[in-house]
Amino acid sequence: MTIRTGEQYLDSIRNRSKVEIYVMGKEVKDVTTHPFLKPSVMAFKSTFDAAWEEDTKDLGRAWSPFINDEINRFNHVHRSPDDLAAKVKLLRKLSHKTGACFQRCVGWDSLNTLWIMTNLMAQKGKTEYRDRFVEYLKYVQKNDLALAGAMTDAKGARTLKPHQQPNKNAYVRIEEVTKDGIYVSGAKANITGVAATEEMVVLPTRAMGPEDKDYAVAFSVPTDSEGIKIIVGRQLNDARRLEGGDIDALPYFYNHEGLVIFDHVFVPMERVFLMGEYEFTSQLVEVFSAYHRQGYGGCKAGLGDVIIGASQNLAKQIGVEKASHVQEKLTEMIFLTETMYSAGIAASLNAVKVCDNCWWVNPMHANVTKHLVARFPAQISQLSIDIAGGIIGTAPSEWDLKNPKLKEYVAKYLQGIEGYTAEDRLRMVRLLENVSLGVAFQIESVHGAGSPAAQRIMFTRLYDLNYAEEIAKKLAGKKTDLKFKPGAEPWRESETQKLAKGS
Ligand code: SF4
Repeated sequence: MTIRTGEQYLDSIRNRSKVEIYVMGKEVKDVTTHPFLKPSVMAFKSTFDAAWEEDTKDLGRAWSPFINDEINRFNHVHRSPDDLAAKVKLLRKLSHKTGACFQRCVGWDSLNTLWIMTNLMAQKGKTEYRDRFVEYLKYVQKNDLALAGAMTDAKGARTLKPHQQPNKNAYVRIEEVTKDGIYVSGAKANITGVAATEEMVVLPTRAMGPEDKDYAVAFSVPTDSEGIKIIVGRQLNDARRLEGGDIDALPYFYNHEGLVIFDHVFVPMERVFLMGEYEFTSQLVEVFSAYHRQGYGGCKAGLGDVIIGASQNLAKQIGVEKASHVQEKLTEMIFLTETMYSAGIAASLNAVKVCDNCWWVNPMHANVTKHLVARFPAQISQLSIDIAGGIIGTAPSEWDLKNPKLKEYVAKYLQGIEGYTAEDRLRMVRLLENVSLGVAFQIESVHGAGSPAAQRIMFTRLYDLNYAEEIAKKLAGKKTDLKFKPGAEPWRESETQKLAKGS
């Protein structure tokens, strides 16, 4: 049995000896107890608990043919469209249990990306990367490790390519190659959950050309390594976690992002999965981004459910739940939430097979999913604020409710209808505030897995406009050479599908 419990995971990340982790300028020794990071660690832990809890056990586990054993699904290489749909369902359920981003999916998507890319490279004769990756995958699965995926570079001036940057380390690069491995320097930005992980899987962030060879690098490294510094980013309401309360900060689950600095970090050769093959970087980025964009259809729909539930409850607390405008808003929120989820499920069930046992999401549906997610959470939050009322931005603190001199007044004037207390209202207001306006639902939804412009580029590239035009010309009775394609969709193949076919 290789599936760890949440407690075993916590024990494994308690003591770090080499990595330096900073929160608000101060070094953190134990991420499992630090008030800023603990909620994030607990959200990460939920991915381990999912493999044991009755209602998520089936979704949370999978069978690995690589080690011939049952594993945690978060380290699984998808074997079918149903596996991909199980991912979206699991993510929706875990959002219900955390109300946050649980952070483990980026590492999972990185594993699946490397499985596809090392197979496609093997088809071109570069078999060593796949051999190394399979050994690494077995190690991860056998030990049920907590992975981060580290892709986004610091990037410097966005108009310049990696080799043109005045800061040579604006993108993570290979500084030195020895017979045993490589030394890398640079920084990866916005790395989800990284301080709560045991391993980082590092991927290039953009398509590269021949002059960028040193930047075309993929590898894995233990998070607790010499030369790595993690600077954890600030978030809305973060200092509330340091107050020690149990209402305002929603201190049980949250997520974090970190700036990860690699200062001449050694990576043994057996952990290097791409080294200089710039010609595969555009497909690698395409594969990873589509995987993560599909996942958003699950986790963000799950957060939508939390917000819908909180909105309905707050409406009940002040007696307006049956008002037609409230019903109308809840209906709209349901529509927006289920649209995101439907797209994520479509991206899964219409998956494409790009090599033996390589199931990739449908790239069109995955990009559309993420584009919906870039738009809809803001609308859902706006509707929820509309239902909840101005109290979302003006409620007294829990310390007012707990002050003996004020308690009675806050209790009296915050209460809505009989049967609900002021504390009931404050707790629900804080839940709604922290989830609907938090990083996971507002910022990640727009910029995670690539900004909206990146998805628009992808789905205009994948859509065959000329084919659609020929269809219209034929129906309008105009001359056309139209030959109907076998499929219903006017789509072109992605770069990855072309590479898989050898074209
Ligand atoms: Fe997982 Fe969603 Fe967080 Fe990405 S944003 S790591 S898919 S929970």
